[in-house]
Amino acid sequence: MTRRAWLWWLVLGAVAAVAYPQLRYGTVPASVCFDGFGVLACVVLAVGIVRRRPARPAMWLLLLAGTVASVAGDVIYDYVSNVAHIDAYPGFADIFYLASYPLTFAGLTVLVRRRTGGRDLVGLIDAAIVSCALALPIWVFLIRPLADQEHTGLGDQLVSLTYPILDVLLLAMTARLLTTPGSRRLPPAYVLLVAAQLTRLPPDVLFSAADLTSLDFPWLSGGWLLTYALTAAAMLHPSAERIAEPGPRHDTTLSAPRLTLLAAASLLAPAVLTIQGLTDPADINWPAVAISCTVLFLLVVGRMKLLLNRVHRQARQLDALAHLDGLTGVPNRRSWDEGLDRELAQARRTGNQVVVGLVDLDLFKHFNDAYGHQAGDLLLKEAAAAWRAQLRETDLLARYGGEEFGIVITGRAAEEALEVVSRLRAITPRDQTFSAGLAEWDHTETADDLVRRADEALYQAKAAGRNRVMLGKSVTLAG
Ligand code: GH3
Ligand code: MG
Ligand code: MG
Repeated sequence: MTRRAWLWWLVLGAVAAVAYPQLRYGTVPASVCFDGFGVLACVVLAVGIVRRRPARPAMWLLLLAGTVASVAGDVIYDYVSNVAHIDAYPGFADIFYLASYPLTFAGLTVLVRRRTGGRDLVGLIDAAIVSCALALPIWVFLIRPLADQEHTGLGDQLVSLTYPILDVLLLAMTARLLTTPGSRRLPPAYVLLVAAQLTRLPPDVLFSAADLTSLDFPWLSGGWLLTYALTAAAMLHPSAERIAEPGPRHDTTLSAPRLTLLAAASLLAPAVLTIQGLTDPADINWPAVAISCTVLFLLVVGRMKLLLNRVHRQARQLDALAHLDGLTGVPNRRSWDEGLDRELAQARRTGNQVVVGLVDLDLFKHFNDAYGHQAGDLLLKEAAAAWRAQLRETDLLARYGGEEFGIVITGRAAEEALEVVSRLRAITPRDQTFSAGLAEWDHTETADDLVRRADEALYQAKAAGRNRVMLGKSVTLAG
């Protein structure tokens, strides 16, 4: 199979699609062109599957079955109406035509499920919005008038209504294909398959409408030939192997084209209402419009909820990023400032004790020089984790900066806090020592003054030879 085979095949399909409407319906050349190309498309698709041997062939086999059913319908219809001259509706061919839809839907559903892993609620809602919006004009202008038409029998009525209903489902399926994530870097085979559904929609819908308008659209059938051509071209394209690769997760993003599509879809209901109001105000199909609008609004609200969930989730992530230290995972300097202010405000009301400690690793520069910066990082991380586990939930441990940490211990006297911090020295990994300075809040001074006293105590601890915890003089004693 050459790399360009799909292109030549597509050119052949385009030639057939353009040539067919020029031939007189019912003649041998017309039948050969239409049925012959359909059969050829089935053969190409089947040969493609056999030669490519896709790892998970279910999707392709279902698409092949759908195409075979549709082409069988064509051949039977041609034979019945042009050779046997039987004018029966619904006929034997309709069984095959109708069967082709569920087979194709099943194939496309397998594709969507494999691309999304079954977890793409946003795409599903968007597809539902588009389908629900487009279903309204199809219902109002096609299905209802068809239902109101005179029918020769129940079978006739049922079958002529089933086609437009299947068209709505085909539309929903196409919308679902278009809204699966990763639409920017789609494998060309996927695009060909979507195009196959898009070329099928207008002839399908207009063919049902032809019943109503008694217009004949010979060029319509060209659209079906293109559908066969595009489906087989998707299998021939080298990217067929990647067609079901999961797309990148876009989650709830709303690209400009998608927003335009959703906005246009949402405007269809008022457009239908306006057209009906202008053309036939006495027969406005208000229940259909009301149902469509209700479902649309609910879907849009659901979509909004998903977007809001994402905004909240990101806000929480941002908040964590803004307040936690990236290396150690403990609160950062900003949280420390806020946390200390909060503790002092609370202690002002409750009269609780508050002790602030500044911890600074001893000769950490030497550690880095000896073992490397990465080992230093790891030690900072392990030390913070070990200390955090030792402290109470209510005590605040934060990275003050560099190899310096701040601790706020509440509800304990200064001597008790001194013991707590001394215990932290014993559990610091890799025998790393630290010096710490503590200061007990005097219930009047500012947070800055309190921290300054702790810093002075730390300086004294360093000056006294490191590896110790010193308690700063109380303000009253110093005074
Ligand atoms: P002292 O006992 O006087 O505190 O000595 P020291 O070496 O710890 O003090 P100094 O302030 O001279 O150096 C602090 C060192 O801490 C220097 C810097 O390389 C190291 N440091 C600060 N932040 C980090 C960090 O995030 N990762 C690593 N690996 N090292 C850090
Ligand atoms: Mg330091
Ligand atoms: Mg240090």
